Amino acid sequence: MPGKRFYIETFGCQMNVHDSEKISGVLSREGYRAADSAGESDLIVFNTCSIRHKAEQKFFSRLGRIRKLKKKNPNLRIAVAGCIAQQQGEKVLKRAPYVDFVFGPQNIHLLADLVRRSAPTVADGDNPGLAEKDLPAIRASGSRAWVAVMYGCNNFCSYCVVPYTRGRERSRPSANILREIEELAERGFREVTLLGQNVNSYRSEIGFPELLEKINSVAGIERIRFVTSHPRDLSERLISAIGELEKVCEHFHLPLQSGSTRILESMNRGYSYDEYRRRIDRLRSKVPGISLTTDIITGFPGETDADHQQTISALADVEFDGIFAFKFSPRTGTAAAVMNPQVMDEIKSRRILEILEVQDEITLKLNKKLEGSVQKVLVEGLSETDNKVLSGRTRSNKIVNFVGNAFCIGSTVPVRIVRARKHSLDGEPL
Ligand code: SF4
Repeated sequence: MPGKRFYIETFGCQMNVHDSEKISGVLSREGYRAADSAGESDLIVFNTCSIRHKAEQKFFSRLGRIRKLKKKNPNLRIAVAGCIAQQQGEKVLKRAPYVDFVFGPQNIHLLADLVRRSAPTVADGDNPGLAEKDLPAIRASGSRAWVAVMYGCNNFCSYCVVPYTRGRERSRPSANILREIEELAERGFREVTLLGQNVNSYRSEIGFPELLEKINSVAGIERIRFVTSHPRDLSERLISAIGELEKVCEHFHLPLQSGSTRILESMNRGYSYDEYRRRIDRLRSKVPGISLTTDIITGFPGETDADHQQTISALADVEFDGIFAFKFSPRTGTAAAVMNPQVMDEIKSRRILEILEVQDEITLKLNKKLEGSVQKVLVEGLSETDNKVLSGRTRSNKIVNFVGNAFCIGSTVPVRIVRARKHSLDGEPL
């Protein structure tokens, strides 16, 4: 199969982006090389997301359009990976019989075998073995790397498919994680983001704070980040580690989802708004100036105007640096999909607009406080909008754009912030 080319289309979260890096790694090890477009490839892999209806629709319409490529080139192979593959398995082959094989996120380590088979195949079983496997990864960026430390989730929030698609929580042995990060440091990576659906419930022979301590001692690594945490697992020990470990960045992403404790209960989130608020206060007392971001779901079944106003008040109360807001999307097989009353879409649209308006003002106000300050920026590359402008992030995960020498891509440089915008900062290199 030397010389065959593959092309991956990735939908969804950072975990999927990293899974695609591993899919590329396994295929390269099998002699494939990356193609620049689907039209030039011999194997197209869709790495799918089923977190919301929209993501699923987007994938199936793309799959429909790809069919004509297979008509032109019958040797073209098509594979479906990710959460839709895990959730729907055989149904994908029935719906699109021109698909060759289907493998879920728990079965990436079977890819080398799957790609050799000619018969249509489905690998959608629960496969805890993945946590033990160290798969090769072709990494997109040269200074920042994703590192999966655990898989799956045991929380069963009533709206979420992850426990069904990625299985029960399994943590990778810390020795495997450290070896991977040491290799990354040798290759010049400066920042690692630890990935897990519920990363702060990591537990192998050590717990998550201890894992951070070990990674903090890896030479060459300057910055440590991690997503996604759950408020219930934000322990005092972890808060101290964030405050004390020099390389752990002063940014924390902690999904709140709703400001209404009544809605949090029907989401099965396992904390009240007050409990969440108390943990935020502890974090801010131990790590002054820490930047906080969160996820918010609007329009959850049964959400009233009063519940919605509690979410708006929570934004004003906490003053997050940024949020990711989503309209509730019923997912087949989840408890919330059959809850009543479902909220009408135009009400969801009105509420999400209000949430974003309120938050944009807060984000701009907090960004303005950084004007005149000097920030350490890890330069990731050229800005998406202007190739004379460099772009990077502060330790608090703010995007900074500034005119500078491309020579400093991959390095951390001091930049004076001259102007705050809603979702980024303008700077001048010192
Ligand atoms: S903690 Fe996150 S991944 Fe786990 S069930 Fe809840 S929303 Fe889904």
